[in-house]
Amino acid sequence: MFDELSSRFEDAVKGLRGEAKISENNINDALKEVKRALLDADVSLSVVKEFITDVKDKAIGEEVVRGVNPGQKFIEVVNKELIKIMGNENSPLNENENSPTVILMAGLQGAGKTTATGKLGLYLKEKDKKVLLVAADIYRPAAVEQLKTLGSQYELEVFSAKEKNSKPEEIAKEALNFANENDFNSIIIDTAGRLQIDDSMMSEMVRIKEVSNPDEVLLVVDSMIGQEAADLTKSFHEKVGITGAILTKLDGDSRGGAALSIRKISGKPIKFIGVGEKIEALQPFHPERMASRILG
Ligand code: GDP
Repeated sequence: MFDELSSRFEDAVKGLRGEAKISENNINDALKEVKRALLDADVSLSVVKEFITDVKDKAIGEEVVRGVNPGQKFIEVVNKELIKIMGNENSPLNENENSPTVILMAGLQGAGKTTATGKLGLYLKEKDKKVLLVAADIYRPAAVEQLKTLGSQYELEVFSAKEKNSKPEEIAKEALNFANENDFNSIIIDTAGRLQIDDSMMSEMVRIKEVSNPDEVLLVVDSMIGQEAADLTKSFHEKVGITGAILTKLDGDSRGGAALSIRKISGKPIKFIGVGEKIEALQPFHPERMASRILG
C-alpha cells in the first residue's frame, strides 16, 4: 500500500531524501501534496487545515531510520494519523443490556436511511436478535412501503402507524410498547428526512429522541455529498446529538473524505458503510481501509 502512496507523493518527498530528520523546511511540499489528496477526496477544507497542522506537528522531528525512505516515513505518519482520527478500530454498536436496544436513524432524504434501516435489521437478525423496524417517516408513504417490502423479503417485522395522522413521536412510542410486550430486543426507527437541513426536521428528531431514549442515534450520510458532510454533521450533532454514523454509497466512486469530516466534527465513529443497494450490502467500518481510500 505504501508503494502506491509513495508514487503519488514522489516529487513532493524528494526534498526529504537524504535528510536524517523530517523538518519544517523539507516537509512543506509534501504537506501540500497531502492537502491536495484530502481535498480531492472531498474532505472539508476546515478539517483538512486542522489535519495538516496536526500532522506537521507529529512529523517534524521524526527520525528517519537508515535504509527507510524519508518519504515513506512521512506517509506512514500521515496514514497513522488518519487512522487514529477515524478511531483506530471498528466501533461496534452500543447495546442495551437491560431493555431493548433502540437505534434511531437520522439524515437527509435520499441519503439511504430506509435502505440502511433494512440493512441493519438484517445484520442484527443474523446475530440472532429479534428485530423490529419502525416506519416513522410519515411524509413519504413510499418509505413505509419500502420498509414493509424489505421486511417481508427478509422476515423482519415492521411497525407502522395504526392511525392516520399519527405523529412520528407517537409512532415511536407505540412501537416501543409493542416491542416490550412482544420480546423484541432490537428496534430500529426510520425517520423522515428532508431535502435540506431544516428546523422542523430537527425538532421532530429531538421529539422522537426524547420519547425513545435511543442507545444509538446514527446519522446516515451519502458519501457522494463530499464536503457538505461537514455542515450536515455539525447541524445534526449540535441539534439532535448523534452517537455514530453510517456512510452510504461507497460502492460509487466517492473517495470517502466525508468519513474524516464526520469523525473530526462530531468526535463520533462511523460504524458501518453501505456498499450497494442490496440489503446485504452493509459492512462494518474499518479506519485503516478508509485511510488508504482517502489517500488514494
Ligand atoms: P432515504 O430517503 O434516506 O430513506 O433513502 P433510501 O433508503 O430510499 O435510498 C435512496 C436511494 O439510494 C435508493 O435508490 C437506494 O437504493 C440507494 N442507496 C441506498 N444505500 C445505497 C448504497 O450503499 N449504495 C448505492 N449504490 N445505493 C444506495
